[in-house]
Amino acid sequence: MLQITSLTISTRTQRLLANKQDQINILANYTQEVQKASTLWDGKSSTSIYFSEIKAKLKKMAVAHHTCNYCENETGSHVEHIFPKSLYPDKTFVWDNYLWACSICNSDYKGSKFKTFNAPNTPQHTDITPLNPRNYNRPNNDALLINPRSENPMHFLWLDLKTGVFVERQNQRTRDWWRANYTIELLALNNREELVKGRKKAYNEYWNMLNRYINVLNATNFNELDAAYSQATPVPRNKAFNFIQTQCCLNIQEAILTYPHPTVWEEMKRQHLHYPKLANLFTQIPTALTWSI
Ligand SMILES: [Zn+2]
Repeated sequence: MLQITSLTISTRTQRLLANKQDQINILANYTQEVQKASTLWDGKSSTSIYFSEIKAKLKKMAVAHHTCNYCENETGSHVEHIFPKSLYPDKTFVWDNYLWACSICNSDYKGSKFKTFNAPNTPQHTDITPLNPRNYNRPNNDALLINPRSENPMHFLWLDLKTGVFVERQNQRTRDWWRANYTIELLALNNREELVKGRKKAYNEYWNMLNRYINVLNATNFNELDAAYSQATPVPRNKAFNFIQTQCCLNIQEAILTYPHPTVWEEMKRQHLHYPKLANLFTQIPTALTWSI
């Protein structure tokens, strides 16, 4: 999971969101707010101009060509409320609370499940998942779930590149440790076989693509370039060699930066000095350490 760079939505859409949010915030109590949030969200037109803009912007912000920001494996299709609207009606129509996610993460795993810390600076926390929202008081905003819109998940999480499994990065039983632990558990990041397999595969793909990049860079003529680029069709020879070579490099770089499981790429960069083979690979192409998703 990676931090997302937010885009700005148009003034018109900002106003429409604010207008809908005001209809919730004006209500007298929390229960009414929860009900109104549900009614307004379910009643919105998913084809309206403002909602289309929201989806388009979230897709554009998403990692690896519209991929789900939670699992990084499936194509996203849902506007996910990071703070669930059934618990946080005050964040139902708030742009910063939206994330592009797949239906599996959004519906099958996260849903309205949520935990918050009991008090500032303590690791004690409570599951506030609404069995019945009417029974709940307004929760605090001190969430355990890592928020990719506002903070860097890599501060909390560490990917074991050998196993494809995430581990908690901070000291055990601290707030940050619990936040990593809960995020891993809630989204089943280590328990879904396809995700672990996908990360291992991504590691190999990134490895191969970077090797190809180095070979392309070292080619000195068209025949060597063809062998290094290793595509089904030969590279075009209608332009200068250096130009075609640069295009091949750019294509491979683009393929790296749009491949699923981009966290694997970021972890390969972060951890390259821990693995001699990886360190050697990046020594040959140090600029790759600056390529970011
Ligand atoms: Zn997902």
